[in-house]
Amino acid sequence: VRLARTLAEARREVGRLRGGGARVGFVPTMGALHAGHESLVERARRLGAVPVLSVFVNSLQFGPGEDFESYPRDLERDATFARRWGVALLFAPEAAELVPSGSRIGVDPGPLGERLEGRMRPGHFRGVLTIVAKLLNVLRPELAVFGQKDLQQAVLVKAMVRELNFEVEVEVAPTVREPDGLALSSRNAYLSGTERAQAPVLYRALQAGERAILSGERDPRRVREEMLRVLVEAPAVAPDYVAVLDGQDLSEVEVILGPTALALAARLGPTRLIDNVLVNPEEGGG
Ligand code: AMP
Repeated sequence: VRLARTLAEARREVGRLRGGGARVGFVPTMGALHAGHESLVERARRLGAVPVLSVFVNSLQFGPGEDFESYPRDLERDATFARRWGVALLFAPEAAELVPSGSRIGVDPGPLGERLEGRMRPGHFRGVLTIVAKLLNVLRPELAVFGQKDLQQAVLVKAMVRELNFEVEVEVAPTVREPDGLALSSRNAYLSGTERAQAPVLYRALQAGERAILSGERDPRRVREEMLRVLVEAPAVAPDYVAVLDGQDLSEVEVILGPTALALAARLGPTRLIDNVLVNPEEGGG
């Protein structure tokens, strides 16, 4: 794996890959790499692209009092994984170059940016979209791959690419989970023993909602109650939100008619975890 630390190096390396005829498949991350990130690299490769992975802990997407300072950073470890996964280029820009102090311009995520995660984390999606736009402008990939794990982020990135006319194909890959259902996340490392033991309740709550829909429930309030009922069984888990949404644009729904997103966020001690599933009611017996 080649390592680029400056924007000029990154542009040069991507130019070299493309000169060799490659389609570039970009996987942006904040590092602390895990099998979820690996699945995005694999997806890029399966789509015929040469995988390029970035590691950047983006200060713009963290709010005051969040975990920006404590977020796990270990570039050597990340490089080892990138090499093992066959990543062609690891781009780890310096904050001073990618986000010079005094930067003021940003991408406005619109109304969806204020809901769900955006309501709990004001400014979060402006920070995400701004950095994704910058990385896309530097690398100019043909393809960019995001995880369904951060569903609202994926929906907003797609909207940005469409509405701001970026020339990149956006792919969303399914969430990779631990055997007990917990979605892989760099933040899982923060969990205490008790918290880790109770964390799978997030996915169990989503599955309860999914079961309700697949057995014919069409009232989003009832589905939400099902999920909450399961979630509150775990005393270490404090829900931030539990939502039943349109699977395409994450708008609120009055009746469940088509593809539906079940999304939730919860705090386990100091750690905030999010998860979601997409449910297609047509596939149920109801
Ligand atoms: P992060 O490093 O957490 O900012 O995530 C970088 C990318 O990996 C994002 O597109 C995430 O949605 C994706 N991702 C994170 N966790 C998972 C997971 N468990 N399964 C699939 N993709 C994931």
